[in-house]
Amino acid sequence: MKIQKNIAILRFIWLKFVAIYKERLKEVDIIIVGAGLAGTSLALELSLRKQNLLVVDLPNPNSSSRVAAGIVNPVVPKGVRTTWQYHAFFKAIPAYYAYWEKQLNASFFNSLPGFQIHPDDHTASQWQKRYSHPEMQEIIAAAEPDSLNNVNHPFGATRVNHCAKLNTQAFLTAAKNWLSPFTEWDEEAFLHASLIRVDNEWHYKNWKAKAVVFCEGINVLNNPWFRHLHFHPTAGDLLTIRFEQAVIPEALYKNREWLIPDGAGNWLVGSTFHKGSLDETPKQEDAEMLLQRLQQWVSADFTLVKHLRGIRPTVEGRRPYLGEHNSEKGLFIYNGLGSKGSSLISWLSPMMADYLVNEQPLHAEVDINRYG
Ligand SMILES: Cc1cc2nc3c(=O)[nH]c(=O)nc-3n(C[C@H](O)[C@H](O)[C@H](O)COP(=O)(O)OP(=O)(O)OC[C@H]3O[C@@H](n4cnc5c(N)ncnc54)[C@H](O)[C@@H]3O)c2cc1C
Repeated sequence: MKIQKNIAILRFIWLKFVAIYKERLKEVDIIIVGAGLAGTSLALELSLRKQNLLVVDLPNPNSSSRVAAGIVNPVVPKGVRTTWQYHAFFKAIPAYYAYWEKQLNASFFNSLPGFQIHPDDHTASQWQKRYSHPEMQEIIAAAEPDSLNNVNHPFGATRVNHCAKLNTQAFLTAAKNWLSPFTEWDEEAFLHASLIRVDNEWHYKNWKAKAVVFCEGINVLNNPWFRHLHFHPTAGDLLTIRFEQAVIPEALYKNREWLIPDGAGNWLVGSTFHKGSLDETPKQEDAEMLLQRLQQWVSADFTLVKHLRGIRPTVEGRRPYLGEHNSEKGLFIYNGLGSKGSSLISWLSPMMADYLVNEQPLHAEVDINRYG
């Protein structure tokens, strides 16, 4: 009898403790982990849909989004074809960024002429054959000779329409400034071990939410719920150079490497691809190789200003990963943007937000349930 009474008292104290603990928790609708291009653009879209958010992001100056050149290019050189899902979203990219530039009262997106500089006759002929193809004719055409001042093109060049550059740093900063007054923002490492499920909620430190979306870039490899997905990191080096004189017209130039103005008077040159590498230390041999190649087709003196390296969150089959964990309900992923984050977020972030808030379906090719 006495034991039963003690158990009842202990149970009462425990329930009281749980009730007080729950009351003390601050509630948000959704926790976003990681504020690169994926997490930040998702936060913008979710805010439009009236969601209260906690964003947890440890700012890493070498994160893929902060290193990225922000190139938006509709053509895949291999096979000279349009990029994946071109017709679904590509031409709407400028409108997407124009909308957010207006909302955020900032400037971070510029359309630019694009030029593919052919490294040999064979490549030139592959491109020329595609000029009249119905899929390509509004995108590519022979370049006008006087548009390539100080850019050597002995094998010819192709003009590529619909190219642009996103200034990723400016976009991330403007978005954070806009979100901050009404979004909780923790600049610290998210500790996966501190996330616990309580009934239908997820509790993290002194927060509770119905959903947690992981947008961790390649750091997903440390995520206990999603690291089983097929991520294959690709490290890449990117250089900032300064021309002694402004002698090259502002455009995206692509040979084997590319060259693009950074919007602040310098130019970016890149990039290298090291499959499987998680090494964020810039490699001198990569810089030397990029600069040597550049000198072969650009007739202007320049100096090296900066050299960075980041890790792209690339995935098997090059299709992003969006969706909910198959057994841990309320845990979601938005990742795998590979080397196309600047274009893909304009399509995928509104899609992910509508999936989370309005129960709209995801595109079948990006849904993680494609793996069954
Ligand atoms: C050299 C290079 C050049 C590139 N050039 C282009 C280009 O020209 N055009 C283009 O479209 N794309 C380019 N990319 C690819 C582009 O950068 C990616 O597609 C995109 O930035 C990925 O964004 P993300 O938000 O998924 O990941 P990330 O940018 O990696 O962001 C993840 C964020 O989450 C944070 N985080 C992760 N784990 C945690 C945790 N546990 N706790 C707290 N915070 C955490 C990270 O610190 C980071 O801030 C390039 C990439 C590289 C490396």
